[in-house]
Amino acid sequence: MARIVQKFGGTSVADVERIKKVAQRVKCEVDCGSEVAVVVSAMAGATNQLIAWTRETSLLHDAREYDVVISAGEQVTAGLLALALQDLGIDARSWQIPIATDGVHGKARIESIDAAEFRRRLAQGQVGVVAGFQGIGPRGRITTLGRGGSDTSAVALAAALEADRCDIFTDVDGVYTTDPRIVAKARKLDRITYEEMLEMASQGAKVLQTRSVEMAMNHRVRVQVLSSFSDTPGTLVVDEDEIVEKRVVSGIAYSRDEAKITVQGVPDRPGVAAAIFGPLADDAINVDMIVQSASEDGRTADLTFTVARADLDRAVSVLEKGRKGIGFAALKPDPNVVKVSVIGIGMRSHAGVAKQMFQTLADKGINIQVISTSEIKVSVLIAAEYTELALRALHTAYGLDAAG
Ligand code: ASP
Ligand code: MG
Repeated sequence: MARIVQKFGGTSVADVERIKKVAQRVKCEVDCGSEVAVVVSAMAGATNQLIAWTRETSLLHDAREYDVVISAGEQVTAGLLALALQDLGIDARSWQIPIATDGVHGKARIESIDAAEFRRRLAQGQVGVVAGFQGIGPRGRITTLGRGGSDTSAVALAAALEADRCDIFTDVDGVYTTDPRIVAKARKLDRITYEEMLEMASQGAKVLQTRSVEMAMNHRVRVQVLSSFSDTPGTLVVDEDEIVEKRVVSGIAYSRDEAKITVQGVPDRPGVAAAIFGPLADDAINVDMIVQSASEDGRTADLTFTVARADLDRAVSVLEKGRKGIGFAALKPDPNVVKVSVIGIGMRSHAGVAKQMFQTLADKGINIQVISTSEIKVSVLIAAEYTELALRALHTAYGLDAAG
């Protein structure tokens, strides 16, 4: 008998009609004889509404109360889905499963799940519905897992239950080679490796929360991404040895959530990088791509790096504050950039992927501002206005275009 975790995202449970449709889908799985645990998101828009209410009520950001409020959306859906399932004659219950997290409110990490009792109930044929996105911190308070966190709840539950599969139902029918809204020739992937999916998610593909992929990879949970609005099979996220068709580049991700800062005329001496990036780190501002270029006189350098766009203003003010100590000449912030990344495990064994990327962009007259690489990824920062052009050209260049 298969044990399955099904997770339904916000659009899949957007209203009562859709929740009833979801109940039908769960019933199908139950009728197949599977043990089924369900994880739900808040109804589409609900979390944003809750966040808006907290802001309207108080400008003071109390992360603990914020979590109490924004975790409520998932509670509503869990109860409604349990009711809809009962209406179909299924023994279903929403279930407060003890999901222990750390105490980082708003961005908590799951530490452990005590699933013993839950498992016993599933084995008796009960369907358990769990509110995603939340857990209980070390002091017994509700925590939330960061936006999109229900994916992580589902994968963590699948790991704890040693489930055969974790199906993530969403509004797209799988993971695509790139964003199909931009590149009409984007193709749905039948399979993708954990490593590639992790890069895709962390480089901007919004289909799965990055942490959920990390979790799936660490616990070898078979994840399937599929649409709750169609019956076509989705994309399986699996181990490398389960991939038959090996491609050098599997996908192209992009992120508009980036901003670039250039610090001009920094004295070229030991300790300046620490003087610049130290205070940013102390302020919890993550720096991603970095380049340093030497100036003509050889005594100063320019440092260019990227931060999350949401952190840009804060980063600028942190640097301005330290200006005297660091001794730079000028600060140039630029939010009009996009990071484009080509991703594929084939890069480990194939040379020339980066070269092809640079050449393709050059042929289109697109200037590369910053480059960074990892074992299975090459990322470039370019002007935001070239996003569409770059994605389409690269998609063709790496042979990813759908036939026809
Ligand atoms: N409801 C939460 C959000 O909107 C969590 C989720 O849907 O995964 O971010
Ligand atoms: Mg989501």
